[in-house]
Amino acid sequence: MEFRDLKSQYRQYKQEIDTAINNVISNAAFIGGKEVKELEKELAEFVGVKHCISCANGTEAMTLLMMAWDIKEGDAVFVPDFTFFSTGEIVSFRGATPVFVDVDKDTFNIDTKKLELAIERTIEGGKLTPKVIIRVDLFGLPANYPEIERIAKKYNLLVLEDSAQGFGGHIFGKRAGSFGNAATTSFFPGKPLGCYGDGGAIFTNDDELTGLLNSLKVHGKGENKYDNVRIGVNSRLDTIQAAVLKVKLKAFIDHELEDVNRVNRLYHERLKGVVKTPYIPEGYYSSFAQYTITLDSKGQRDELQENLNEQGIPSMVYYIKPMHKQQAFSYLEVSDKDFKTTNTLCDTVLSLPMHPYLLEEEVEKVCEVIKNYLK
Ligand SMILES: *Cc1c(COP(=O)(O)O)cnc(C)c1O
Repeated sequence: MEFRDLKSQYRQYKQEIDTAINNVISNAAFIGGKEVKELEKELAEFVGVKHCISCANGTEAMTLLMMAWDIKEGDAVFVPDFTFFSTGEIVSFRGATPVFVDVDKDTFNIDTKKLELAIERTIEGGKLTPKVIIRVDLFGLPANYPEIERIAKKYNLLVLEDSAQGFGGHIFGKRAGSFGNAATTSFFPGKPLGCYGDGGAIFTNDDELTGLLNSLKVHGKGENKYDNVRIGVNSRLDTIQAAVLKVKLKAFIDHELEDVNRVNRLYHERLKGVVKTPYIPEGYYSSFAQYTITLDSKGQRDELQENLNEQGIPSMVYYIKPMHKQQAFSYLEVSDKDFKTTNTLCDTVLSLPMHPYLLEEEVEKVCEVIKNYLK
């Protein structure tokens, strides 16, 4: 059994993917080939925004936004404590200060009450200027949109939606990638929409921001690549990756999104009342980057993982350590007592195999091991 089965997906789309890759090689348009622009257009349409700016990976997508918004030393950026390192890294990378915020125990996304408290405290502290809220759509579930918008308006903050895991999800039809002032995603192979290497994208309705990002990602270009009007970076999506993504985006929209939600229902039927399964609020739709259950204790979680492992069932712990406990952030000297939920989640969560090609028999096998262990 695979945790995320990229081989089955390839077998199903082998002919189309091979043809797409071969076309790029035959045309030798490895950088900036027509597939890149075509993909950007298709992605923007699917997400429902005006602009999609492709780039090298999901981390750079966020870094580019930090650059475009001129986030720097003395600025505070609010980041959930329960996320992949990258979400906080890009803030420190700019010399700004990530202010970690605890998450909600059911959605695993930023706790909006604690977010407001953290903003108030930062203002009172008088050392940092609040600038941006990064909302992460963790494990595929979009973060609490109305509340975050309200708070951003109240304190006049920008919102960045880190949808590396959320691509494909929505809230009452409004797609992940369309929330906030700008959103980012990652095409790392294991993400909901993955390519065959690294890739990323930014989404926004803001024309001016789009112009700035398109300059920053090409060495701060002005009229052209050899006219440089600002300091930028080199961050692009290869044509081969764009060609692969065009095939995979079609499969993603046609059936893969619905298939992961089908797998969610199969798990839910078998595990409800047995263990805490993912909570999807009314009107929310997850792209199930991960299917994550919550156990009662660290001991129980670790033992269950061992049991699964013995049966040849892969599982993962996302995330083993809260952001505020990462050595790289020790200089921030934050108090551990502000992160009760994240601390508990890191000890008790377990992500099970989840992908569009998972079979009912496989779900059955996973659930049998869990039921046998917990009974
Ligand atoms: C994967 C991920 C990223 C980074 O994406 P890369 O393409 O690997 O740079 C950022 N944020 C979250 C929440 C992620 O899961």
